[in-house]
Amino acid sequence: MAMILINPWRDVTPWVKALKEERPDLDLRVYPDDSNKDEVEFALVWNHPMGVFKEYPNLKCISSMGAGVDHVLKDPELPESAQVTRVTDEHLTRDMADFTIALIMNHLRGLSFYKVREASQEWKPKSYLRISDVRVGVMGVGVLGAHVASRLFKMGFQVNGWASSEKNIEGVKVFAGKNTLDSFLSQSDILVCLLPLTKETENILNKENFKKLPQNAFIINVARGGHLVEDDLIEMIDSGYLSGASLDVFREEPLPKEHPFWSHSKINVTPHIASVTDPLSVVPLILENYDRARNNKTLLNVVSRQKGY
Ligand code: NDP
Repeated sequence: MAMILINPWRDVTPWVKALKEERPDLDLRVYPDDSNKDEVEFALVWNHPMGVFKEYPNLKCISSMGAGVDHVLKDPELPESAQVTRVTDEHLTRDMADFTIALIMNHLRGLSFYKVREASQEWKPKSYLRISDVRVGVMGVGVLGAHVASRLFKMGFQVNGWASSEKNIEGVKVFAGKNTLDSFLSQSDILVCLLPLTKETENILNKENFKKLPQNAFIINVARGGHLVEDDLIEMIDSGYLSGASLDVFREEPLPKEHPFWSHSKINVTPHIASVTDPLSVVPLILENYDRARNNKTLLNVVSRQKGY
Protein backbone atom coordinates (compact mmCIF):
# COMPACT_ATOMS: atom_id res chain seq x y z
CA MET A 1 0.00 0.00 0.00
CA ALA A 2 1.25 3.48 -0.87
CA MET A 3 0.31 7.07 -0.06
CA ILE A 4 0.15 9.82 -2.68
CA LEU A 5 0.57 13.43 -1.62
CA ILE A 6 -1.27 15.73 -4.03
CA ASN A 7 -0.75 19.46 -3.54
CA PRO A 8 0.73 20.75 -6.80
CA TRP A 9 0.52 24.46 -5.87
CA ARG A 10 2.66 24.47 -2.75
CA ASP A 11 6.03 23.28 -1.54
CA VAL A 12 5.28 19.97 0.17
CA THR A 13 8.80 19.44 1.54
CA PRO A 14 7.73 19.95 5.20
CA TRP A 15 4.99 17.32 4.74
CA VAL A 16 7.35 14.79 3.17
CA LYS A 17 9.88 15.40 5.93
CA ALA A 18 7.32 15.04 8.72
CA LEU A 19 5.82 11.85 7.23
CA LYS A 20 9.22 10.26 6.62
CA GLU A 21 10.50 11.16 10.07
CA GLU A 22 7.50 9.57 11.71
CA ARG A 23 7.42 6.54 9.36
CA PRO A 24 10.75 6.07 7.49
CA ASP A 25 9.52 3.03 5.53
CA LEU A 26 6.32 4.70 4.29
CA ASP A 27 5.82 4.21 0.53
CA LEU A 28 5.18 7.91 -0.08
CA ARG A 29 4.81 9.36 -3.54
CA VAL A 30 4.45 12.99 -4.49
CA TYR A 31 2.13 13.94 -7.37
CA PRO A 32 2.86 13.92 -10.29
CA ASP A 33 4.32 10.45 -9.99
CA ASP A 34 4.31 7.71 -12.60
CA SER A 35 5.02 4.61 -10.52
CA ASN A 36 2.38 1.89 -10.25
CA LYS A 37 -0.83 3.75 -9.34
CA ASP A 38 -2.68 0.53 -8.47
CA GLU A 39 -0.63 0.40 -5.25
CA VAL A 40 -1.90 3.75 -4.02
CA GLU A 41 -4.72 3.39 -1.52
CA PHE A 42 -4.40 6.63 0.45
CA ALA A 43 -4.34 10.19 -0.89
CA LEU A 44 -3.35 13.23 1.17
CA VAL A 45 -4.57 16.26 -0.72
CA TRP A 46 -5.06 20.01 -0.90
CA ASN A 47 -6.53 21.68 -3.99
CA HIS A 48 -5.94 18.64 -6.19
CA PRO A 49 -6.45 18.84 -9.96
CA MET A 50 -10.10 17.91 -10.60
CA GLY A 51 -10.55 14.33 -11.82
CA VAL A 52 -7.10 13.18 -10.70
CA PHE A 53 -8.46 10.42 -8.46
CA LYS A 54 -9.54 8.45 -11.56
CA GLU A 55 -5.86 7.63 -12.02
CA TYR A 56 -5.83 5.73 -8.70
CA PRO A 57 -8.34 2.85 -8.98
CA ASN A 58 -7.73 1.43 -5.47
CA LEU A 59 -8.13 4.51 -3.28
CA LYS A 60 -9.65 3.76 0.13
CA CYS A 61 -9.18 7.15 1.75
CA ILE A 62 -8.84 10.72 0.54
CA SER A 63 -7.61 12.84 3.42
CA SER A 64 -7.73 16.62 3.34
CA MET A 65 -4.52 18.23 4.58
CA GLY A 66 -6.62 20.74 6.48
CA ALA A 67 -9.90 21.10 8.36
CA GLY A 68 -11.95 22.02 5.29
CA VAL A 69 -13.05 19.47 2.70
CA ASP A 70 -14.89 21.69 0.22
CA HIS A 71 -11.88 21.48 -2.12
CA VAL A 72 -12.19 17.66 -2.15
CA LEU A 73 -15.96 17.35 -2.34
CA LYS A 74 -16.34 19.77 -5.25
CA ASP A 75 -14.63 17.22 -7.54
CA PRO A 76 -17.46 15.82 -9.71
CA GLU A 77 -15.43 12.64 -10.24
CA LEU A 78 -14.78 11.78 -6.62
CA PRO A 79 -14.60 7.96 -6.45
CA GLU A 80 -17.47 6.37 -4.53
CA SER A 81 -15.16 3.71 -3.11
CA ALA A 82 -13.00 6.14 -1.11
CA GLN A 83 -13.96 7.73 2.19
CA VAL A 84 -13.12 11.39 2.71
CA THR A 85 -11.46 12.43 5.96
CA ARG A 86 -10.15 15.69 7.36
CA VAL A 87 -7.73 16.94 9.94
CA THR A 88 -8.53 18.19 13.41
CA ASP A 89 -5.72 19.35 15.62
CA GLU A 90 -5.31 21.26 18.86
CA HIS A 91 -2.84 23.76 17.33
CA LEU A 92 -5.18 24.43 14.42
CA THR A 93 -8.02 25.00 16.85
CA ARG A 94 -6.07 27.24 19.21
CA ASP A 95 -4.52 29.25 16.38
CA MET A 96 -7.97 29.96 14.98
CA ALA A 97 -9.19 31.25 18.32
CA ASP A 98 -6.05 33.38 18.84
CA PHE A 99 -6.47 34.96 15.43
CA THR A 100 -10.19 35.61 15.77
CA ILE A 101 -9.61 37.22 19.16
CA ALA A 102 -6.89 39.44 17.65
CA LEU A 103 -9.30 40.60 14.92
CA ILE A 104 -12.04 41.28 17.44
CA MET A 105 -9.75 43.26 19.74
CA ASN A 106 -8.43 45.23 16.76
CA HIS A 107 -12.01 46.15 15.94
CA LEU A 108 -12.97 47.04 19.52
CA ARG A 109 -9.99 49.36 20.02
CA GLY A 110 -9.78 50.72 16.45
CA LEU A 111 -6.13 49.80 15.86
CA SER A 112 -6.53 49.72 12.07
CA PHE A 113 -8.27 53.11 12.23
CA TYR A 114 -5.25 54.63 14.04
CA LYS A 115 -2.76 52.92 11.74
CA VAL A 116 -4.29 54.75 8.77
CA ARG A 117 -4.12 58.07 10.67
CA GLU A 118 -0.46 57.58 11.50
CA ALA A 119 0.45 58.28 7.88
CA SER A 120 -1.03 61.82 8.11
CA GLN A 121 0.05 62.37 11.76
CA GLU A 122 -3.60 62.85 12.64
CA TRP A 123 -4.26 62.84 16.42
CA LYS A 124 -7.87 61.66 16.43
CA PRO A 125 -9.16 59.83 19.52
CA LYS A 126 -12.44 57.99 19.02
CA SER A 127 -14.73 56.10 21.38
CA TYR A 128 -14.16 52.40 21.79
CA LEU A 129 -16.19 49.31 22.54
CA ARG A 130 -15.90 47.42 25.80
CA ILE A 131 -15.76 43.59 25.87
CA SER A 132 -18.67 43.19 28.27
CA ASP A 133 -20.95 45.28 26.03
CA VAL A 134 -20.32 43.30 22.86
CA ARG A 135 -22.33 40.32 21.62
CA VAL A 136 -20.38 37.99 19.36
CA GLY A 137 -22.24 35.52 17.16
CA VAL A 138 -20.23 32.55 15.96
CA MET A 139 -21.76 30.89 12.88
CA GLY A 140 -20.73 27.25 13.00
CA VAL A 141 -19.80 25.90 16.41
CA GLY A 142 -18.00 22.74 15.37
CA VAL A 143 -14.43 21.93 16.33
CA LEU A 144 -13.12 25.44 15.60
CA GLY A 145 -16.19 27.56 16.28
CA ALA A 146 -16.95 25.94 19.64
CA HIS A 147 -13.44 26.67 20.87
CA VAL A 148 -13.56 30.25 19.58
CA ALA A 149 -16.93 30.79 21.28
CA SER A 150 -15.69 29.31 24.52
CA ARG A 151 -12.53 31.44 24.59
CA LEU A 152 -14.56 34.59 23.87
CA PHE A 153 -16.95 33.76 26.71
CA LYS A 154 -14.00 33.36 29.08
CA MET A 155 -12.78 36.82 28.04
CA GLY A 156 -16.10 38.33 29.08
CA PHE A 157 -17.92 38.67 25.76
CA GLN A 158 -21.60 37.79 25.44
CA VAL A 159 -21.46 34.88 23.01
CA ASN A 160 -24.04 33.12 20.88
CA GLY A 161 -23.46 30.29 18.44
CA TRP A 162 -25.37 28.94 15.46
CA ALA A 163 -25.28 25.34 14.23
CA SER A 164 -27.44 22.72 12.57
CA SER A 165 -28.02 20.88 15.81
CA GLU A 166 -28.23 21.65 19.53
CA LYS A 167 -24.93 22.05 21.40
CA ASN A 168 -23.90 22.39 24.99
CA ILE A 169 -21.06 24.91 25.33
CA GLU A 170 -20.58 26.53 28.72
CA GLY A 171 -21.58 30.19 28.68
CA VAL A 172 -22.64 30.11 25.02
CA LYS A 173 -26.25 30.13 23.86
CA VAL A 174 -26.46 27.99 20.74
CA PHE A 175 -29.21 28.57 18.19
CA ALA A 176 -29.92 25.45 16.16
CA GLY A 177 -31.25 25.26 12.63
CA LYS A 178 -32.43 27.55 9.85
CA ASN A 179 -35.46 28.80 11.76
CA THR A 180 -33.28 30.36 14.43
CA LEU A 181 -30.96 32.24 12.08
CA ASP A 182 -32.81 35.57 12.18
CA SER A 183 -32.91 35.61 15.95
CA PHE A 184 -29.21 34.69 16.14
CA LEU A 185 -28.24 37.42 13.68
CA SER A 186 -30.28 40.08 15.49
CA GLN A 187 -28.06 39.53 18.57
CA SER A 188 -24.66 39.60 16.84
CA ASP A 189 -22.71 42.87 17.10
CA ILE A 190 -19.76 40.95 15.68
CA LEU A 191 -20.50 38.06 13.34
CA VAL A 192 -17.76 35.42 12.99
CA CYS A 193 -18.21 32.92 10.16
CA LEU A 194 -16.74 29.49 10.89
CA LEU A 195 -19.09 27.38 8.81
CA PRO A 196 -17.94 24.76 6.34
CA LEU A 197 -18.60 25.72 2.72
CA THR A 198 -21.55 23.61 1.53
CA LYS A 199 -24.56 24.04 -0.76
CA GLU A 200 -26.49 25.19 2.33
CA THR A 201 -23.97 27.75 3.53
CA GLU A 202 -22.66 29.18 0.26
CA ASN A 203 -23.44 32.93 -0.03
CA ILE A 204 -24.86 32.99 3.51
CA LEU A 205 -23.08 36.28 4.23
CA ASN A 206 -25.42 38.27 2.00
CA LYS A 207 -27.33 41.54 2.07
CA GLU A 208 -30.56 40.00 3.30
CA ASN A 209 -28.79 38.48 6.31
CA PHE A 210 -26.61 41.55 6.93
CA LYS A 211 -29.81 43.59 7.33
CA LYS A 212 -30.86 41.32 10.19
CA LEU A 213 -27.74 42.22 12.18
CA PRO A 214 -27.79 45.20 14.55
CA GLN A 215 -26.70 48.47 12.91
CA ASN A 216 -22.88 48.93 13.00
CA ALA A 217 -22.25 45.19 13.17
CA PHE A 218 -18.80 43.98 12.13
CA ILE A 219 -18.17 40.91 9.95
CA ILE A 220 -15.32 38.44 10.35
CA ASN A 221 -14.97 35.72 7.72
CA VAL A 222 -12.32 33.13 8.55
CA ALA A 223 -14.16 30.22 6.92
CA ARG A 224 -14.30 30.31 3.09
CA GLY A 225 -14.60 33.02 0.45
CA GLY A 226 -17.67 31.30 -1.00
CA HIS A 227 -19.69 32.22 2.10
CA LEU A 228 -19.54 35.90 1.27
CA VAL A 229 -21.38 37.86 -1.42
CA GLU A 230 -18.63 40.42 -1.91
CA ASP A 231 -20.67 43.21 -3.54
CA ASP A 232 -23.29 42.96 -0.77
CA LEU A 233 -20.62 43.49 1.87
CA ILE A 234 -19.20 46.57 0.16
CA GLU A 235 -22.68 48.00 -0.37
CA MET A 236 -23.67 47.48 3.27
CA ILE A 237 -20.45 49.02 4.58
CA ASP A 238 -20.59 51.97 2.20
CA SER A 239 -24.22 52.64 3.11
CA GLY A 240 -23.10 52.92 6.76
CA TYR A 241 -25.13 49.94 7.94
CA LEU A 242 -22.14 47.72 8.73
CA SER A 243 -19.08 49.16 10.45
CA GLY A 244 -16.54 47.04 8.57
CA ALA A 245 -15.08 43.60 8.07
CA SER A 246 -11.99 41.47 8.52
CA LEU A 247 -11.60 38.88 5.79
CA ASP A 248 -9.07 36.06 5.73
CA VAL A 249 -10.56 33.99 2.90
CA PHE A 250 -11.68 34.91 -0.61
CA ARG A 251 -13.46 33.52 -3.64
CA GLU A 252 -10.25 33.93 -5.57
CA GLU A 253 -6.96 33.38 -3.73
CA PRO A 254 -4.55 35.10 -3.91
CA LEU A 255 -6.94 38.06 -3.89
CA PRO A 256 -6.45 39.78 -7.28
CA LYS A 257 -4.46 43.03 -7.14
CA GLU A 258 -7.32 45.09 -8.60
CA HIS A 259 -9.87 43.80 -6.07
CA PRO A 260 -11.72 46.63 -4.22
CA PHE A 261 -11.20 44.93 -0.83
CA TRP A 262 -7.50 45.87 -0.89
CA SER A 263 -8.13 49.60 -0.82
CA HIS A 264 -11.30 49.72 1.26
CA SER A 265 -10.60 51.64 4.48
CA LYS A 266 -13.08 49.56 6.50
CA ILE A 267 -12.04 46.13 5.27
CA ASN A 268 -8.99 44.33 6.65
CA VAL A 269 -7.49 41.71 4.37
CA THR A 270 -5.26 38.84 5.51
CA PRO A 271 -3.93 36.11 3.18
CA HIS A 272 -5.71 32.98 4.51
CA ILE A 273 -3.51 32.67 7.57
CA ALA A 274 -6.05 32.39 10.38
CA SER A 275 -4.92 28.86 11.16
CA VAL A 276 -2.47 26.85 9.12
CA THR A 277 -2.02 23.08 9.43
CA ASP A 278 1.29 22.15 11.03
CA PRO A 279 2.49 18.92 9.34
CA LEU A 280 4.45 17.84 12.41
CA SER A 281 1.36 18.07 14.54
CA VAL A 282 -1.10 16.26 12.24
CA VAL A 283 1.10 13.53 10.76
CA PRO A 284 0.36 11.07 13.61
CA LEU A 285 -3.38 11.40 12.92
CA ILE A 286 -2.84 10.94 9.18
CA LEU A 287 -0.71 7.84 9.71
CA GLU A 288 -3.28 6.46 12.13
CA ASN A 289 -5.87 6.70 9.36
CA TYR A 290 -3.39 5.24 6.86
CA ASP A 291 -2.98 2.19 9.11
CA ARG A 292 -6.72 1.94 9.62
CA ALA A 293 -7.32 2.07 5.86
CA ARG A 294 -4.69 -0.62 5.32
CA ASN A 295 -6.37 -2.87 7.90
CA ASN A 296 -9.90 -2.04 6.73
CA LYS A 297 -10.74 -0.50 10.10
CA THR A 298 -13.08 2.42 10.80
CA LEU A 299 -11.40 5.71 9.83
CA LEU A 300 -11.21 8.79 12.06
CA ASN A 301 -12.70 12.16 11.11
CA VAL A 302 -14.75 10.86 8.21
CA VAL A 303 -16.87 13.58 6.61
CA SER A 304 -20.39 13.16 5.30
CA ARG A 305 -20.51 13.57 1.54
CA GLN A 306 -24.21 14.18 1.80
CA LYS A 307 -23.88 17.04 4.33
CA GLY A 308 -20.68 18.33 2.75
CA TYR A 309 -18.69 18.51 6.00
P1 NDP B 1 -16.82 21.40 11.79
O1 NDP B 1 -17.33 20.49 10.73
O2 NDP B 1 -16.25 20.82 13.03
O3 NDP B 1 -18.00 22.39 12.24
C1 NDP B 1 -18.92 22.93 11.36
C2 NDP B 1 -20.03 23.65 12.15
O4 NDP B 1 -20.89 24.30 11.22
C3 NDP B 1 -20.88 22.70 12.97
O5 NDP B 1 -21.25 23.32 14.19
C4 NDP B 1 -22.14 22.52 12.10
O6 NDP B 1 -23.30 22.23 12.84
C5 NDP B 1 -22.24 23.91 11.50
N1 NDP B 1 -23.01 23.89 10.25
C6 NDP B 1 -22.71 23.26 9.09
N2 NDP B 1 -23.67 23.47 8.17
C7 NDP B 1 -24.60 24.27 8.79
C8 NDP B 1 -25.83 24.83 8.36
N3 NDP B 1 -26.32 24.64 7.13
N4 NDP B 1 -26.51 25.58 9.25
C9 NDP B 1 -26.06 25.78 10.50
N5 NDP B 1 -24.89 25.27 10.97
C10 NDP B 1 -24.18 24.52 10.10
O7 NDP B 1 -15.77 22.36 11.08
P2 NDP B 1 -14.50 23.10 11.73
O8 NDP B 1 -14.96 23.86 12.91
O9 NDP B 1 -13.39 22.15 11.89
O10 NDP B 1 -14.09 24.08 10.52
C11 NDP B 1 -14.97 25.05 9.99
C12 NDP B 1 -14.41 25.66 8.71
O11 NDP B 1 -13.34 26.55 9.01
C13 NDP B 1 -13.76 24.68 7.75
O12 NDP B 1 -14.73 24.01 6.97
C14 NDP B 1 -12.88 25.56 6.92
O13 NDP B 1 -13.57 26.00 5.78
C15 NDP B 1 -12.59 26.76 7.82
N6 NDP B 1 -11.16 26.88 8.15
C16 NDP B 1 -10.49 28.03 7.84
C17 NDP B 1 -9.14 28.18 8.14
C18 NDP B 1 -8.42 29.45 7.85
O14 NDP B 1 -7.18 29.51 8.02
N7 NDP B 1 -9.06 30.52 7.48
C19 NDP B 1 -8.39 27.11 8.78
C20 NDP B 1 -9.18 25.94 9.11
C21 NDP B 1 -10.52 25.84 8.77
P3 NDP B 1 -23.56 20.74 13.46
O15 NDP B 1 -22.42 20.52 14.42
O16 NDP B 1 -24.86 20.85 14.16
O17 NDP B 1 -23.53 19.80 12.32
